[in-house]
Amino acid sequence: MPDDTIDRVAVLGAGNMGHGIAEVAAMAGYNVVLRDIEPEYVADGYESIRWSLEKLAERDRLDEPADAVLERIETTTDLADAVADAELVIEAAPENLELKRELFADLERFADEDALLATNTSSLPITDVAAAVDSPERVLGLHFFNPPVKMDLVEVIYGAETSDEVAEAGHDWVESIGKTPIYVRKDVRGFVVNTIVGPFVGEPAWMVSEGDAEIRQADAAMVHERGYPMGPFELADLTGIDVGYHVRKEAGDDVPPVMAEKVEAEELGKKTGTGFYDYEDGAGPDYEPDQGEGFDTLQVEARMINRAASLVGEDVATPEAIDTGVRLGLGFPEGICRRGDRLGLDRVLQKLETELEATGDDRFEPHPYLRELVTERKTGEDAGAGFHEYGDGGDDGLDSYRYLNAAIEDGVLEVELDRPERMNALSTALLDEIDDLFSTVGTDELRCVTIEGAGDRAFSAGADIGGFDSLEPTDAMDVTPAFETVNEFPRPVIATVDGYCLGAGLELALACDLRIATKRSSFGAPEIGLGLIPGGGGTQRLLRVLGETRAKELVFRGNHIDAERAEAWGLVNRAVDREAFDDLVAAFVDDLREGPPLGLEVAKKVLNRGEDASLEAALTMESQGFGLLLGTEDVREGTAAFAADREPEFEGR
Ligand code: NAD
Repeated sequence: MPDDTIDRVAVLGAGNMGHGIAEVAAMAGYNVVLRDIEPEYVADGYESIRWSLEKLAERDRLDEPADAVLERIETTTDLADAVADAELVIEAAPENLELKRELFADLERFADEDALLATNTSSLPITDVAAAVDSPERVLGLHFFNPPVKMDLVEVIYGAETSDEVAEAGHDWVESIGKTPIYVRKDVRGFVVNTIVGPFVGEPAWMVSEGDAEIRQADAAMVHERGYPMGPFELADLTGIDVGYHVRKEAGDDVPPVMAEKVEAEELGKKTGTGFYDYEDGAGPDYEPDQGEGFDTLQVEARMINRAASLVGEDVATPEAIDTGVRLGLGFPEGICRRGDRLGLDRVLQKLETELEATGDDRFEPHPYLRELVTERKTGEDAGAGFHEYGDGGDDGLDSYRYLNAAIEDGVLEVELDRPERMNALSTALLDEIDDLFSTVGTDELRCVTIEGAGDRAFSAGADIGGFDSLEPTDAMDVTPAFETVNEFPRPVIATVDGYCLGAGLELALACDLRIATKRSSFGAPEIGLGLIPGGGGTQRLLRVLGETRAKELVFRGNHIDAERAEAWGLVNRAVDREAFDDLVAAFVDDLREGPPLGLEVAKKVLNRGEDASLEAALTMESQGFGLLLGTEDVREGTAAFAADREPEFEGR
């Protein structure tokens, strides 16, 4: 929904970032003017938007036709026209301070005096850009990630003079376009995300330069032992080794020799065909899962955690903001503060001190805030507090999970799979949490459960296959109990699916009792493409839900089917437009919440068990269930209400 004080947004620069920012603003309902310096640049930007919108429409990810979004975008080369009626201006011109300052000085003359002036710079101080205008309090950083259409995170950065009102308006606007803002309260180099990623790449580069590690060893360990989506050298190749080199040079930092050598040899990574890996004659990053042995991952993580401590200690960002930032901006498997809390901050501090003593290098100098936490015995999860508070997990223990959110609202257990950076892929840890939640939550006050996926792309896009290669075949035989625990949970469970529901995600949805989907959702069992078959009971539940003909099509072909076909096949109960989705889910939930808990429990059990029993045994189960219910107060209440023509009030007795 558009923010009510902002209707028109001007985006300056129609390049990589500018066109993407214009696109996401228009998708959220804002009127957008896109400006570049030459007609062909604006035309290129506009065409990129059209292309991208059509792709999104093909995948059913737009709520309206692509043309309707395009109609909200005007283009111009005239700066005055572009900004005249805009309440928000976002500059995405090249990363050059002088150019940005000139642009801001000009645009201040033409823009409304109340307009917010934002820059998308990734590395220049907001304060320096803001110094070009007479009213620096209305200048802020809105740092989008590339590509804006896919990346959910936006850093909202204060310059030295930015007013709270302006930062809050920027923050609200980011929320209104469906992105996740984090506050960066001081104008520090690298803001939050790049501050943390620095040592992720830099420390392994030092370790390799000093002969303490190998490139493939570092990448294999960080990915396969620590769960990062990419190895540090793989990441450097992707972003360009020169980029990290220049950032370090500009900050006045020493550059690890392995990086400097690559830059001198003009082997800058993927874009030049060679970097740390070979992309022309080789297949790019070719490290193997078992090559990581012996790499000191703690040395790298300790430095990232130390950086996080500096951000918190200097009031730049909260641990929550940092954790959100690295998960959404870098795809880290968990927040870096959270990881520090799990490792133990005393251990992290000790590692830094040992390295400092051994090398004398101030990159290991522990930040005073880290020392303070350890002195106060806030050493992390085991101590009950660290960067975050742990305590007893609240009254119901529901807030103690890392990868899922759970809360009980009005008799409904609302569960959210919370790994949006991995499209809610089901890792072993997440499955363990699901199992734990459904095995321990009290059912007395509960009437039903809903499960959804966080973010706006997926219910769950599958299993986290990152863990597969390190799994022993015998471990994999022990199918996680999570799916059975959900399937046998004594209350009805609804999967509410908006986006991808694939592989293990589909298996989880099948373990639920009911499935409601938006029309843009898609379903599939792609395991066969990996040479595998659906696990977690998937083959058998598909067979029971779809019948053999359709189950075999889904499993053998490994293709996705859309929500309408899924509805026609009986894989989901309903498939509706996104606008109608919440109301439909609410209607299902209302019926289950008002229904008789015992009746529903017995119905679920008899239907689940009866399916695999002989008809005779199933009918016996049914009549036993029937008999069991007859004596309950709920049945007395149900029949009395029916006779009196009123709504029953079931108590579950
Ligand atoms: P780009 O080179 O793709 O696009 C910049 C565009 O700005 C070009 O089309 C250029 O013609 C235009 N331009 C030049 N002067 C202009 C002016 N006075 N008014 C309007 N437009 C003008 O660059 P990009 O990658 O889109 O980066 C833009 C900004 O976003 C930079 O500050 C960059 O640091 C930042 N950023 C980039 C990324 C990324 O990954 N590319 C990520 C986050 C932030």
